[in-house]
Amino acid sequence: MTDPEELAERVREGDLRIHELEDHADYDTAARARRLFIERETGTELEAIGEYAFPAEQADPNIENMIGAAQVPMGVVGPVPVNGEGTSPTSQNSPSSANDGGAADGEHYLPLATTEGALLASVNRGLSVIGAAGGADARVTKNGMTRAPVFRVGGVVEAAETVEWVEANFEALREAAESTTSHGELLDIEPYVVGDSVYLRFAYDTKDAMGMNMATIATGEACELVEAETPASLVALSGNLCSDKKPAAVNAVEGRGRSVTADAVIPGDLLEERLHTTADAIAEANTRKNLIGSAKAGSLGFNAHAANVVGAAFLATGQDEAQVVEAANTITTMDAREREDGSTDLYASVSLASLEVGTVGGGTTLSTQSEALEILGLRGGGDPPGSNADALAEIIAVGALAGELSLLGALSSRHLASAHEDLGR
Ligand code: NAP
Repeated sequence: MTDPEELAERVREGDLRIHELEDHADYDTAARARRLFIERETGTELEAIGEYAFPAEQADPNIENMIGAAQVPMGVVGPVPVNGEGTSPTSQNSPSSANDGGAADGEHYLPLATTEGALLASVNRGLSVIGAAGGADARVTKNGMTRAPVFRVGGVVEAAETVEWVEANFEALREAAESTTSHGELLDIEPYVVGDSVYLRFAYDTKDAMGMNMATIATGEACELVEAETPASLVALSGNLCSDKKPAAVNAVEGRGRSVTADAVIPGDLLEERLHTTADAIAEANTRKNLIGSAKAGSLGFNAHAANVVGAAFLATGQDEAQVVEAANTITTMDAREREDGSTDLYASVSLASLEVGTVGGGTTLSTQSEALEILGLRGGGDPPGSNADALAEIIAVGALAGELSLLGALSSRHLASAHEDLGR
């Protein structure tokens, strides 16, 4: 067996480079040797980082230069009550929705990984209110993972020629793209022209995969056809109109990944009993904070803290953490609805235009992440394909709704600061 001490020494002497250790030892030994090297270089002790619960080899597709694992505390919130059959108070006035089921149904425990104290307590408080009100409805209303390559053309005449060819040859492009995947389906190509640049925003149904790799590989294949048949030359496979891991209006308007909405109707007496506030007070706080305040700030996010729940769920379930930025464009609505008996309900909703989630691929196969998906009953591919990722999106959306409700409830009853003090942070 290779000695990690010896390997670390060889790295120190410059005989081996830090990324070459796996060529000389098994993955765990290589990680141990790298830790030893870093400990000596930096005068640190990496005991905790070296305590990890998965074989280092399993993480090979996910990390380079591995030294261990970052451990983030994980808890659960729940039950998350999702009315997949469309029978909650919000859908009772809409006969057609009873047949239009969601992917998630029933009660779920949602794992959340975070270092933010009070977050899970707050989400749980919102969930208990939603549960007492009869649960939330949630639906994925659009699904399309996008990749938008940028091409160079001579000018607008060639740009128009390129766009025309793409529009007339969608089937050929679909065939090329789909030749690279057994699950992905090309849904749409949206062209954009800016001077002598042509952007083609490809959108795919990537089923249970978040789909960024899948969409990139498929688009690469389609681009070869575009280059062969039009005057356009590919400059970059991603031209930023996709738009991946950056705040972008295109994702907020057109969607990216799953577009998902969750809503619930909360009776006024429940608001008073559990959140010590009223529908009118929450609606006013939402309008002045999430809508007007966000508009004045020039924000793309018209919500209180949807990214908190999305980020914690992403960490727990192995999603791509940088894509939390796309989910931050959530719009929260809160409206008082008068009942015939004179009481007032609260209609509460969150709409996440671009929630990029998967239950296969990426970080979902690592041991803690796949156990977290197992808690939800959503590990791996769904039957039919895509249903597991849809269900994950719907459950996260209900979690985000609970977070919004709880925070707006706290703000409108003015006890946000005292809640944090009570929990000691
Ligand atoms: P992936 O692991 O690259 O691909 C998913 C794989 O799962 C595909 O090979 C697919 O096979 C297979 N699969 C099996 N059952 C499936 C099912 N039910 N539904 C869908 N696919 C199924 O994952 P990805 O989601 O495409 O990409 C995620 C990774 O991309 C993350 O690690 C993320 O960090 C990274 N990423 C990449 C980029 C980029 O530009 N390349 C950008 C951001 C993030 P078939 O394709 O053969 O059907």
